[in-house]
Amino acid sequence: MRNLVEKYNKITIVSAITLIAIIGTHIILRLYYSITNTEMRQSEVIAGVITPLIVASTMVTYLIDIFKKLNDLEKRIRKIANFDQTTSLGSRLALLESSENLFNLAKRCNRNLGILMLDIDHFKYINDKYGHLKGDAILHSMGNIINSTKRETDLAGRYGGDEMIIFLPEADLNGCQSFAEKLIEKARAFQMETSNGVIKFTISIGISVLSESFSFCHLGELIESADTALYKAKNLGRDQYSIYKA
Ligand code: GH3
Ligand code: MG
Repeated sequence: MRNLVEKYNKITIVSAITLIAIIGTHIILRLYYSITNTEMRQSEVIAGVITPLIVASTMVTYLIDIFKKLNDLEKRIRKIANFDQTTSLGSRLALLESSENLFNLAKRCNRNLGILMLDIDHFKYINDKYGHLKGDAILHSMGNIINSTKRETDLAGRYGGDEMIIFLPEADLNGCQSFAEKLIEKARAFQMETSNGVIKFTISIGISVLSESFSFCHLGELIESADTALYKAKNLGRDQYSIYKA
């Protein structure tokens, strides 16, 4: 899409410049003719100078309008692609793209990079008992909990379904654990009133850290390790975090 918009932007600019050049040359020639030929009539001035000026300004306005609309469209599409509306977190696409940069930077500079993979416990039950829309509202609330707990420099996104990931640059294991505890506490304390009763939920979290002692070659391995830890937290009874151990 970006390439398409860039291509159309270029076409718009080239068309505008070509149009201005053609009409400009025409006007200059006409003006030259009117100066050298004193017998030029008023109708000829209108036909040769004023009409092309009106045509040129209309066309340029039109092209600028297309240019603006394409840029607005690009911004909207980019927002839709990068933002998950249900959770108000980054989309899976944005999460994976941005975390690749975080991972590479952490590797190159020998810095820590913590990851928390979070999954809502028995979410299917919430959907079944209270309906899909209330399920969406719970996903939204979980997104709010993450957004209000994380730092500006942390990266959070919806990985899929009821799974969310938060990357904590520079965090060590203690930092990740205290962050996970905060999220678990906030999820436990959350309540949503509905006509069908109060919805409460818990979460499970898998923690892993890229560090001197735990080196992963690829981002995929780091994510997989957090997934393994999450699986362990689920098996241990849910409503808790678990730490990846190789
Ligand atoms: P577990 O404790 O093992 O995680 O149990 P669970 O019921 O949460 O199981 P799982 O995580 O596998 O289920 C995720 C469910 O999330 C499955 C799907 O119906 C539901 N889901 C996925 N995307 C959405 C969504 O956008 N909105 C809603 N309301 N539900 C969704
Ligand atoms: Mg779940």
